[in-house]
Amino acid sequence: MRQREGQHHKSLSLVKYPARGLLKRTKRVETVTDSLRDTMRTMVTTMYSNQGIGLAATQVGIDLQIVVVDAGDGILKMINPVIVKRDGTDVMDEGCLSVPQTVVRIKRAKVVTVEYLDEWGKRMCKTFEGLTARAIQHEIDHLNGRLIIDYLPWYKKMITIRHLRYV
Ligand code: ZN
Repeated sequence: MRQREGQHHKSLSLVKYPARGLLKRTKRVETVTDSLRDTMRTMVTTMYSNQGIGLAATQVGIDLQIVVVDAGDGILKMINPVIVKRDGTDVMDEGCLSVPQTVVRIKRAKVVTVEYLDEWGKRMCKTFEGLTARAIQHEIDHLNGRLIIDYLPWYKKMITIRHLRYV
């Protein structure tokens, strides 16, 4: 049975660095099912309860290409998202729920056009900008096993990784 959005209060536990699951590429979703929709609703709850603006499946131990984002423009649920166009650049400090106490300044596209399936399996192609565009790029990185620390120069990455072992 499907639950309605407002009735859903489950939350998933977050996977944190250096968990191996965060470092691998996720599998494409082949079929959009009720169970997948349920998973995405739980991911939204988990994102909100951790004050996140985006969450990728790998961050809750799920090996599938799904992300949820709410960076102030409403909830976005994306299945198999692919960036098909990038415009402009923008530099901003980013944190990650899976990489505690770490902030990395990252240059990303300012505007992105993304192809994905919505939660009903409908093929979408939309253009996003601002914080939403940034969050989407961050979450799609997760689906490819890429983390914010991968944007650091190697020596800073070494220091950060060493530090993360003790947090
Ligand atoms: Zn993240």
